Amino acid sequence: MILVHQIKKACIAIAIIAYLPLNAAAWGMTGHRIVGQIADYYLTARARKGVAQVLGAESAAMASNWPDFIKSDTSYNYLGSWHYVNLPAGLDQNGVFNFLDSDKQANVYNKIPEMIAILKDKQKTAAEKQMAMRLLIHFVGDLHQPMHTARKDDLGGNKVTVTWFGQRSNLHRVWDEQLIEYQQLSYTEYAAAINHPTKDQLKKWSHDSLKQTVYESYEACNKIYEVTKADDKLSYRYNFDFVDMLNEQLLKGGVRLAHILNDIYA
Ligand SMILES: [Zn+2]
Repeated sequence: MILVHQIKKACIAIAIIAYLPLNAAAWGMTGHRIVGQIADYYLTARARKGVAQVLGAESAAMASNWPDFIKSDTSYNYLGSWHYVNLPAGLDQNGVFNFLDSDKQANVYNKIPEMIAILKDKQKTAAEKQMAMRLLIHFVGDLHQPMHTARKDDLGGNKVTVTWFGQRSNLHRVWDEQLIEYQQLSYTEYAAAINHPTKDQLKKWSHDSLKQTVYESYEACNKIYEVTKADDKLSYRYNFDFVDMLNEQLLKGGVRLAHILNDIYA
């Protein structure tokens, strides 16, 4: 009886371990770097200096990956839910805004302002600011990955099993990494290739609120859910259908991150 109990416990532990890192996934390395690289392009001279004072020789692109690297250290487990915000299906714009106001969980939406506040606070130490800067750069990227503003019941698409060019995958992973890797560009090549916003886009994205940003990612995730179903075999056509939306999310992420940083050091 005791043995059965222990086996049960072990199974539950394995199940939890197998499940946790999935939900904690994010834009892959390349996606985050693209956002950082594009942001760097739009920094004012003051912001560039301010960022360099915090990060030293580390670029925004390279700093963006640190919050994923630290997931291997359990003392940072408390940051797990800061990478995303789960939203229920069927909300309109006001519904999303109201949900964000009432959601008391630590999430990507309510943690970004905290990072901004730390960076503006003259009392904070260099180490505190370095961490806040790396997290801010990363989280603004995450906020633009549509499956980071997706449903709780499928863990942001982690439980939606699909294949990607015949390889077993899931919807979250396709959007974190596989669609981006499919383009076969380095992060600098990728940033250069998509960094062509119109004047109107630049103007709009530089003035959008964080709530608006969440809403647009939520709309993007709704489109993804509409088209992608469990057990779908995704390949060429999926790329054709979604590459423009993917690139716009990455570009918006970079422009909005620059705007946030410019504002901090204005
Ligand atoms: Zn993340």
